[in-house]
Amino acid sequence: MTEHTKTDGLPGMDVPVIPDAAGFGKAPPRNERMSTAKVECNACPVLCQISDGRTGACDRYANRDGVLVRVDPVVLLRRALSNPSPALVPFARDGAEPAAEGAEADWNGDLLHADEVFVTGVGSSTTYPDYKPAPFIVGSKARDVDMVTVVTEGIFSYCSLKVKIDTDRFLGAEQANVRYKGEVVGHVTTAEYGSQMLSLGGVHHLTGGSKKEGRMALELMQKLGNKQAAECTIDGGSSLVIQAGRAPIVNGVEEQRMRVGCGSAAVGIFARQFAGVADEVVVVDDHITGVLTQHQAGRCLDMPESGIKMLGRKSTPGRYFQVANPGNGWGGTDIADPLSIIEGWEEGVAKPGLRLLMTSTTGEHAQWYVLDEALKPVEQPMPAEVKRIVERIGENCEPSLCTVLFLGGAGGSLRAGVTENPVLLTRAIKRALVNVTCGGAPAYVWPGGGITVMVDVMRMPDNSFGTVPTPAIVAPIEFSMRLEDYAALGGHVEHVFPLQEALARGAWQDDGAPVTRQWVRIDDANPWPLGQPPMLG
Ligand code: SF4
Repeated sequence: MTEHTKTDGLPGMDVPVIPDAAGFGKAPPRNERMSTAKVECNACPVLCQISDGRTGACDRYANRDGVLVRVDPVVLLRRALSNPSPALVPFARDGAEPAAEGAEADWNGDLLHADEVFVTGVGSSTTYPDYKPAPFIVGSKARDVDMVTVVTEGIFSYCSLKVKIDTDRFLGAEQANVRYKGEVVGHVTTAEYGSQMLSLGGVHHLTGGSKKEGRMALELMQKLGNKQAAECTIDGGSSLVIQAGRAPIVNGVEEQRMRVGCGSAAVGIFARQFAGVADEVVVVDDHITGVLTQHQAGRCLDMPESGIKMLGRKSTPGRYFQVANPGNGWGGTDIADPLSIIEGWEEGVAKPGLRLLMTSTTGEHAQWYVLDEALKPVEQPMPAEVKRIVERIGENCEPSLCTVLFLGGAGGSLRAGVTENPVLLTRAIKRALVNVTCGGAPAYVWPGGGITVMVDVMRMPDNSFGTVPTPAIVAPIEFSMRLEDYAALGGHVEHVFPLQEALARGAWQDDGAPVTRQWVRIDDANPWPLGQPPMLG
């Protein structure tokens, strides 16, 4: 890899761009001071002027002997790979390096297997704004139907990550700022069952604040999108290590279990098992603490009320809100001693010898008490049959994970790389004629206007995300449809080229094209992108 300096070749930003009237070729030099030894990258509005042997400001494009090339390989998916780590295969084009000795191509051009090959946007290159057709508009056959896949790397300013953290711990209040390296890069949104949601990045942080805020938001989004770990802090809340597909680490402790339900749900789920082995069960939870004998479940089992009086706001029988503050203790509350949420015992109802289980919603915390003569709970060793139920609560908890979803709006410019009349692409997607994928992973298309897509980064190839310093995220996006539908939506049909040509030569354009390809096996969880309807909202 050539040496990179972030300032290499950055142009004076005050010079206007002169569009190439002749078509899609290179723009003429924007001023006479521009050295002829440099090439200009027009893949984003920064328009780096790059010296020979150097890369541009984003590290994605380089000047190789006077040819602007996309330095990463374009990622191709196959249903199955004969070699688990296939070699990089160079395209037959300027700027490409010769194939490594002994390197075997994983596909020999056998068209019978052409519908096992899918060109992704990862490494495919792009232009922004899209004044020219997308770099790959690939014609192929799927089940004998002529298909087209329009492949590009989208440049997204309007994009964010929605992050789901499976935890009961208190991460921070709703709307609290999330910081990365000291900069505000997002906020806490709603809590959902067993999880806390975060919104990270987004155009407000990318472009609406200081330069440092934008850079940090971008760095965080790229890291998390590429399945790497990043540490954030939440104002008035916790510190948090997030990594897609891994357990969150809250205040230095790795989370283990995602609860089976709230305190009330846990009471209901295990009520029949508790009846007979305990006289009262309290499932401690920051949101809804459940009390078995008062709860509908206990009443249906004819359990006599225990006389327990709880702190907190009674909602409905056996369900209490706000028994304690949110925190990192029992059931996502701030308590270490569960007895602190018991206000007292009703005289004449509560009886000495009463057996009380207190547990959290995950079973991670659990204690067993017996009331003494003064109706004071005294901790005792937990009987084996009770312990088994507590363990079952734990067994029913799923592993705690961080889930990172990329959410982006494919604006009119990106659509212009697909069709001369961008709105027709939107309409065709909404009519389920065009499947939208990101790196081959199914993208959920939001209802309403525009093409707003959301994708689980775990289903995308590794290192799918890049950045440009505008600042914006670079993410792969592909639109697959029948050839006749592509023509009907005003597609750039003159730039459709067959799969075998795409595999031999790479992108149709010469300026900034990738020079190598790399095979990756499609994730087993993903449907094959061709011949699928889009995931519409
Ligand atoms: S894509 Fe990268 S190299 Fe090209 S102009 Fe933008 S920052 Fe520079």
